[in-house]
Amino acid sequence: MDKIEHIGIAVRDLEAAKGVYQNLLNTPVYKTETVETEHVITAFLQTGPNKIELLTATHPDSAIAKFIDKKGEGIHHIAFAVADIRAEMTRLKAEGFTLLSDEPKPGADNKLVCFVHPKSANGVLIELCQEIA
Ligand code: ZN
Repeated sequence: MDKIEHIGIAVRDLEAAKGVYQNLLNTPVYKTETVETEHVITAFLQTGPNKIELLTATHPDSAIAKFIDKKGEGIHHIAFAVADIRAEMTRLKAEGFTLLSDEPKPGADNKLVCFVHPKSANGVLIELCQEIA
């Protein structure tokens, strides 16, 4: 894996959270995007080389809604950039990691993504993401 691509934070109120993080990082949100398939709206901020993704649910069935119900707001996942997501998925499966999908899915910010189950990674949801060329 290449580097941490972003850290995802689950929030109840996206507009309020945007305000908080814009003030915290002293930089504007550069992109807000709905990911219909995941029932989430995401907002990205960048500070230096690092990105924060704020995520809010658009539907009670969304994984973000379930996460917040169970654990409250907070860090939801850590995303790693990978050059070849399919190769990385094959490698991780062979290492015994549980992946949440068999195929990469289109994610926010022009990426193909796949998640590694938190059970496989000491309680942390891991996202792999590959830039769509
Ligand atoms: Zn993410």
